Amino acid sequence: MSDSIRIAAPATVSNVGPGFDLMGFALEQPLDILKVKRNKQNTIRIFNESDATIPLDPFKNVSSVAIKSLLDTLQINEGFDLIFEKKINPGSGIGSSAASCTAAVYGVNQLLGKPMETESLIDSALAGEFIASGSLHADNIAPALLGGFILIRSYNPIDIIKLTYPKNLVCTLVHPDLVINTKESRKLIPEKIELNASIAQSGNIAALVAGLNTNNYALIGRSLIDKIAEPHRSKFIPGYDILRKRLSDCGVLGMNISGSGPSVFALSDNPETAAKAAKIMEDTFLENNIKSVTYVSGVSQVGTRVLD
Ligand code: ADP
Repeated sequence: MSDSIRIAAPATVSNVGPGFDLMGFALEQPLDILKVKRNKQNTIRIFNESDATIPLDPFKNVSSVAIKSLLDTLQINEGFDLIFEKKINPGSGIGSSAASCTAAVYGVNQLLGKPMETESLIDSALAGEFIASGSLHADNIAPALLGGFILIRSYNPIDIIKLTYPKNLVCTLVHPDLVINTKESRKLIPEKIELNASIAQSGNIAALVAGLNTNNYALIGRSLIDKIAEPHRSKFIPGYDILRKRLSDCGVLGMNISGSGPSVFALSDNPETAAKAAKIMEDTFLENNIKSVTYVSGVSQVGTRVLD
């Protein structure tokens, strides 16, 4: 059995309009990479070979916390080195911490000879994600681990539903050079919401699932409305309202904030519109003196996997 393995985990879009805390999907790119190696020290050591800033303290790094949770579940005491080749910057709103959590537990599970089913790794990955966001939400973790478009029906017990979706759905994603901390960003959202907002949110999430299942692009587009987080979080994304208008004029199905932001995503039914959307996103942020990186990507069927 090998002592070392390289794992890839996809970036993910969570919240997905009305799907606040309960919906997410995996992207074909970017992919985060983590090398996991057994060590003889009986401890978890962290090595960062990327430009991304991540905690080197095993109590603060989401990956080591996730692995500790897995080892506790398995009642195993072993040591691992985690060598980070991070390709997704922390705080990007595209699941950097989730990719680190799933890559870590997936890698350790492989090195241990797969004592756990992949789906059962969710709980340990969530324990890691908890320290990044301060709340238990699986809408990045579940698609990062399993791929596809995911609905989380319940947290207690966890009930994850893989949705079917149109295969030519294309996501345009922009990551502006701004940092929004998930913990801080969650504080912006009121604890209680109005009945009207709750009804609208429920209608939109149900319609979004129906649209995805029946390849009804128009329905997908008009359901991508969020009454809970977007009204509060969009204020911290310069040019957001103009961007929404321009993207709508260019023919995307819909758009919203990815995760807690600052990344923004748009869905299209063809690659040409998705490419146009990328240019609009980049230009609109530049008008606000903000550099950005854009991705045009399909929804990935595959989640976390072995690279080599
Ligand atoms: P994202 O959506 O990009 O994951 P979050 O704000 O949810 O953004 O998570 C990033 C936070 O998690 C940062 O405070 C970062 O320092 C912390 N963190 C701890 N370990 C890691 C890791 N291995 N990879 C990414 N972020 C990590």
